[in-house]
Amino acid sequence: MRDQRLIAGIGRAWANEILHAARLSPYALSTDLTDEEIDRLAAAIDSELERGLELRERGASNERTYRVHNRLGEPCYVCGTPLARVDYEEHTVYYCSRCQTGGRVLKDRRLSRLLK
Ligand SMILES: [Zn+2]
Repeated sequence: MRDQRLIAGIGRAWANEILHAARLSPYALSTDLTDEEIDRLAAAIDSELERGLELRERGASNERTYRVHNRLGEPCYVCGTPLARVDYEEHTVYYCSRCQTGGRVLKDRRLSRLLK
């Protein structure tokens, strides 16, 4: 719960970007993160929000700003794997199955619990 608050209020699109940059599963926030994962998440929040602010100041569109969000099937900017999407409660989450979930395709929340 403590870790979920780290990205509360940032917004779903940026949460997608941040989790990707941190190489964390979209479901990582509902589990206990290790210290190393928390460090990665904190670093990703800093770097992604800084990148976002810079792009906004230059007037970049959402399409240019987001590298993961709303890019189903487009190649991951890190590894080239087509990005995947999963519905998670009321959210739609975009992620790279190679960078973030060790090759696992997420089906829904219950299945991801089984796979954990
Ligand atoms: Zn990737």
